[in-house]
Amino acid sequence: MKENVLKKEFKKNDVQRMRNLIQGKEQERTRSSVGFTNKKEFHEEGDVWEADGRTWTIRDGIRQNITKLDKAKKAHVMPLLCPKCSRVMKKKLDKQYYNIHKFCFDCVVDFEHELKKTGKWEEYHNKIHNDEIDNKIAEYKLWVEEKVNESNNGFVSEAGDVEQWKGKVNKEMVAKNVDEVITYLESLKK
Ligand SMILES: [Zn+2]
Repeated sequence: MKENVLKKEFKKNDVQRMRNLIQGKEQERTRSSVGFTNKKEFHEEGDVWEADGRTWTIRDGIRQNITKLDKAKKAHVMPLLCPKCSRVMKKKLDKQYYNIHKFCFDCVVDFEHELKKTGKWEEYHNKIHNDEIDNKIAEYKLWVEEKVNESNNGFVSEAGDVEQWKGKVNKEMVAKNVDEVITYLESLKK
């Protein structure tokens, strides 16, 4: 459950905060609706298209480079057989447990039973918790880097509007905010 809470906090507060910051208060914002801008293509959540020699999609209302998404997705693909006991992973819980522990539900139960017996239960769970935070921080850095370096030729909002931003991203401000977010995430470690 802790992992879920963390994901939620990270998404709602930090990501939204970064989005606002990058789009910048001091930057003059222009908004044009799709019908009036011939040059801009209309894209919505889940669309895939080519621009700037790269492939893009929109996820959670944010335009993203698809190569990076693919990599992130592959990291979560579950093999057919459990790497530990070689049994087919077909239970609903298998998927859930595989994502965190990298083996099937039954193996996790056995493993945790063993941990409890040897008194290493807490240590193990803290490690999972901290690894999750490290992953979040890495993902976050990647995402910020992408946003900061992205060319300013249009941003498709959740509502499907094409938005453009005048002026440059305030990199210093972004860096400060990034540090703040990372410090916060680090503080959640056990
Ligand atoms: Zn197994």
